[in-house]
Amino acid sequence: MEALRLLDPRLLVYAVQVTRLFVWLVILAAIFTPLEHVFALHPEKIFRKAIVTDLGYYFLSSLVPSILLSAPLAFVAWGVHRFIPPGVTSAIAAWPLWLRLAASFIVGEIGFYWGHRWSHELPLLWRFHAIHHSAEHMDFLVNTRAHPLDMVFTRLCGMVPLYMLGLASPLHASANLTPVLIVLAGTIWGFFIHSNVRWRFGPLEWLVATPAFHHWHHTNDGREYINKNYSPMLPCIDRIFGTLYLPRDKQPQYYGIDQSISPVLFGQLIEPFRASRKDFSLMLSEMEQGSTTDDSTTVVPSSQQPNSPTPIEING
Ligand SMILES: [Zn+2]
Ligand SMILES: [Zn+2]
Repeated sequence: MEALRLLDPRLLVYAVQVTRLFVWLVILAAIFTPLEHVFALHPEKIFRKAIVTDLGYYFLSSLVPSILLSAPLAFVAWGVHRFIPPGVTSAIAAWPLWLRLAASFIVGEIGFYWGHRWSHELPLLWRFHAIHHSAEHMDFLVNTRAHPLDMVFTRLCGMVPLYMLGLASPLHASANLTPVLIVLAGTIWGFFIHSNVRWRFGPLEWLVATPAFHHWHHTNDGREYINKNYSPMLPCIDRIFGTLYLPRDKQPQYYGIDQSISPVLFGQLIEPFRASRKDFSLMLSEMEQGSTTDDSTTVVPSSQQPNSPTPIEING
């Protein structure tokens, strides 16, 4: 007890958080590991390649993005307070709770959809998001395999519209419950849609995201299948924006990307910044060479390389 009293209180908070995450990991593994064994879409070992890296991401992604989000959200709160007419926010605040929750869910989904789509279409964002897509085997743990800055960007895209419309407020704990619930629901559902199960759900698949829906988002079966199914929970958002792909009788065979990514966690975390420096020096050397640029020195954004996601591919 005496030793506990001497500890920095912040260390104690982190220790409690890590213990809580460990308990959640045991619960998730107890649910998904048997299901992924009995109903496997693809045969897979429990201690597969990259399992240690993905376990590291599980803890990192559960702790770091919420810390990194606090500063930009405080800035958003200041901006909303300053630029959005109080009449707008107070009118929406007067809506019944069910209407605010439903509107928040749909607005948040549209925000997440575009944040995710931009992460595929814009080369700078793709550098970070490529880590999530570098998983070559799908299971529930791939849900948290993501660069912290990738998660921060997508969450900001989902949450900022809620603050701008007055559907949530970072300044009031009660009004901040909506985005917390939306992120929580998306995270829990995320473990399910990444899981290695072959289940199909008939017409329900057009209503809510399923493993088949999100596995097609991760496929590396060919260029015609990439850049589909961005929405975290509502396939109808992909249908509206022309990116839905969900065949009834087919499942993807291969996952991952063709560009090489460091196999270790630390290497993956710094890789997007190293790529940035490399592209910058290539750009400088191009400028030095003037207009006689040779093809071999042209900077090709990762999202335009062969067999990696193309910038825009609309499915009609
Ligand atoms: Zn993606
Ligand atoms: Zn995913």
